[in-house]
Amino acid sequence: MAGLLRRSLVLRRRPDGEPQPEDFDIVESEVPDPGLGEVVTRTIWLSIDPYMRGRLSDRASYATPVQIGEVMTGESIGEVVASADPGFAAGDVVVGSRGWQTHSLSKAAALTRLDRDAAPLQANLGVLGMPGTTAYSGMKDIGNVKAGETVVISAASGAVGSVAGQLAKRAGARVVGIAGGPEKCIWVQEALRFDDCVDHRVPHLQQALADACPNGIDVYFENVGGEVQAAAFALLNPFARVVMCGMVAQYNESRFPPGPNLGFVVGKRVRIEGLIVSDKPERVAEWRALASPWVRDGSLHYRETVVDGLENAPTALQMVLSGGNFGKMLVRVGPDRG
Ligand code: NDP
Repeated sequence: MAGLLRRSLVLRRRPDGEPQPEDFDIVESEVPDPGLGEVVTRTIWLSIDPYMRGRLSDRASYATPVQIGEVMTGESIGEVVASADPGFAAGDVVVGSRGWQTHSLSKAAALTRLDRDAAPLQANLGVLGMPGTTAYSGMKDIGNVKAGETVVISAASGAVGSVAGQLAKRAGARVVGIAGGPEKCIWVQEALRFDDCVDHRVPHLQQALADACPNGIDVYFENVGGEVQAAAFALLNPFARVVMCGMVAQYNESRFPPGPNLGFVVGKRVRIEGLIVSDKPERVAEWRALASPWVRDGSLHYRETVVDGLENAPTALQMVLSGGNFGKMLVRVGPDRG
């Protein structure tokens, strides 16, 4: 569009640790004319989200990273300045993934029109947008909060956490937030009406969280990871649900401490669930009926290690705990038939 210039932030280099302004270049270019089915917009609000750190790295992820020289990705709200699509007209306000730039040329199909009067426009990037939806999905599909349960929310004052905790309050739960610093904690309790809020900067976080959760934790909404995660996991009750939403504490890290890095649970949508066989006694007969024919016809393979004599039971136990067994460890105490 002759004379209409835009500024875009493009990735100059991949950040090492915390992203720096120098990792980006500001590039000026003329805004192209919209082709058929395209729309030119002027950016009003740009959303900044923790996931963006992942887009700056070339680590394997569920999403494609931004390439060097590419405009940084991001959701924004903008006003249509020119449209070559019958669905949009100049003056419309839209939301979409339009990147870090003052103007963008987008496919009309990638934009959603907003109602200026329905809510403050920027709320469509926060409480009514992706973060709010994240909180809602996590609570609805995984949290399954019941009245009277204890729900803990990390990054409680943030875009996702603040909504997640308020939804849990609406479901009748006792809600405890975790946030950084007294100002955030006070807001979480006074404005969001959480029952308690623990400052994760206190010296004894584990104890402080235990004091705030005398009945343990039934639902933990994980936004942070690291020490906060360790403190919350230690308090999980039987049959607790953990909504693995994000682990922002490690997004700038390139090395992780030993032990499992549960960040992969988020990106790969991994479901981890504890199993205690006795919880479902009906499975015993069910399994025996199913598997007996397979044992008889030899299609279900198994091995046994047999030690003779009751007095050798402790040795057999040692073996099973140290790999001395091959397959099912058994002690033959007496003959098959008396
Ligand atoms: P927030 O508004 O909560 O901002 C991030 C907050 O994280 C900070 O304000 C800070 O709060 C906290 N934080 C950062 N570093 C640390 C640290 N080292 N230890 C403890 N707390 C820390 O961001 P969002 O609400 O947008 O996102 C929250 C989480 O949800 C993120 O992990 C994000 O990646 C995830 N997310 C996941 C989605 C999904 O589809 N799975 C979608 C959207 C978000 P404080 O000062 O209180 O510590």
